[in-house]
Parts: sequence; C-alpha cells; structure tokens
Amino acid sequence: MQFVCPQCKSELRREEGGYACEACGLHFPVICGIPDFRLFADPYIDIAADRAKGEALERATRGMSFAEAVRYYYSITPDDPADLAELWTARALAEVAIAREMLAFHPGEGPVLDVGCSTGAVLIAAGGGVGVDIAFRWLVLGALRLREAGVAGQLVCANAEYLPFAGELGARVTSFDTLEHLRDAPLAMREMRRVGQSLLLTSNNRWAPLPEPHVHLWGVGWLPRAWQVGYVAWRRGDLHPYRIQLRSAREGRTLAREAGWTGVAAEAAPLFAPQMSSVAQRVLAMYRGTRRLPGMSWLAPRWMLRA
Ligand SMILES: [Zn+2]
Repeated sequence: MQFVCPQCKSELRREEGGYACEACGLHFPVICGIPDFRLFADPYIDIAADRAKGEALERATRGMSFAEAVRYYYSITPDDPADLAELWTARALAEVAIAREMLAFHPGEGPVLDVGCSTGAVLIAAGGGVGVDIAFRWLVLGALRLREAGVAGQLVCANAEYLPFAGELGARVTSFDTLEHLRDAPLAMREMRRVGQSLLLTSNNRWAPLPEPHVHLWGVGWLPRAWQVGYVAWRRGDLHPYRIQLRSAREGRTLAREAGWTGVAAEAAPLFAPQMSSVAQRVLAMYRGTRRLPGMSWLAPRWMLRA
C-alpha cells in the first residue's frame, strides 16, 4: 500500500526499517510488520512504551489463538480488573459478528477504512481493507487475529487526525465508538472526508439516560463540558483523567457537515451483543425495532451517522 506523510501528505521515501519524510524530517518505523505513522501518543501510554509492549506481546503470543492472546494481554495488564477482563474478552470475540451486522448499513464500493480499528474485527467482517488505530499493542493482536481468520488486511498505527493516505483512497470509511476519544474530532472528521467517499460512524450519546460508558457514572454528559473533568476526578479519583468528549447526534451531524460530508443522516444506532444472554438479545431486538421512532436519536445509548 502507498503511504504519504501524515503531517504534510507528501510522498515518503522507503528506508531501512520504515519510511521517511524528507520535507518534515520525520521517520516512521515498521515494527512487527505494522507501520507506525503516529505524530502523538494515545493518552494512556507513551509511544516507546506502547511499541515495547507490542513487541513483547508479539513474542509472547506466538502460537496462541486470538482468544488466548487477548486473555494473555489482560493477564499482563493488572490495571484492568480480572472480572472485567473476562467480559471484555467475550466482547472482543463477538466483534466480528457485530461488525458484519453494522457493515450491512454501509454498502458501496471502495476499500473499507476502519478508523479506531482496535484488533481489526471490521476488516475480517469486510474480508479485507485498511484499519487504523492509535494503540500499537492492540494492532499487534489484530495482526494475529487477521492471520487466524485468513484475511489480508492492512493494519496501520496512526492518529485519526493525521491519516497517512493520499486523497485518492476513495474509502468506505467506518468508525465505531472512536470519535469521543479523539484529541481533535473536527480535524479527524476532515481527514476521513479527505480520503473517504462514504461514512458510517457511531458514537456514545451524550444525553443517553445511562451511566457514562467509560467511567460508569450517571449524568456526566448532562453536566456542562467545563465541569465534566472535575466531576469525574471527584467521583473516581482512581481513574485516568477524563479526556472523553461525548456528543449528541446533532453535534455529530454538525461536525460531519462542517468537515464537508454531504447527505448526512443521524439516527439511533442499532445495538448488537451476541455474547450476551438470550434475555439481553430479546431486549436489544426490541430496541432495534423502536430505534427509528421520533426522539430516539436523542435518547439512544449510541447514535449513528451515514453520509
Ligand atoms: Zn512530511
């Protein structure tokens, strides 16, 4: 695949072990077969530590299945409690089935470009494409997942705000529950527009009458933005500083329009969780049956944009 400089978008020179931009004087290594085009790190781990963790993970998980590798990842990440780790493993394994359901809402031509791809479930559901994520360590597990599924997808470590692709990519862009984590969501939306011909995006809803999904506190989204960080720090001093910015469906639609997307439609997102109980399945099916009623995009746990 042809990459461009994530910063200035000029052509890159191949060099020993990676790529270089002559104009910017930047070097981008390829590690464990994954090019790393990040200009800044994710908030939880710096770039050097993320690469070291990914390389150690690659060595330790050789010969493991994807499921074993995810369990191993949580076993070496003591920040994440064991009871949640089992739930998260089950959810990670269900992601391919969920991605298949979601892609049905996004037909079209062009390669799938999944922004915030984590371990690449969308690429497996699509049978290929390009996945971008800021977390190198998760992409290493994604490479194992793609190999296990026999899918040839391209995984790229990069910032959503600085995509290393030329404008001619013509991608079918997907991005699931990533927007709220971004440092600069308007810039990322413009980047997706630059390389994309269509968009399917979901995000957790600011106004949903549910606990905030990342910190499990009620009412965070209903507070003025300037108070949210202090409120979360007060209630949950044990967590990382709150950097998430939940938006309403209307705010998401405005962002997409300002980025140049046309024909933007916002609605309550369908929810799927095949790893959960049959009772939960019935509740979700009922929800999907009602999600197009008036007002649902305002109250739903997640909203979805199509453009
Ligand atoms: Zn450059």
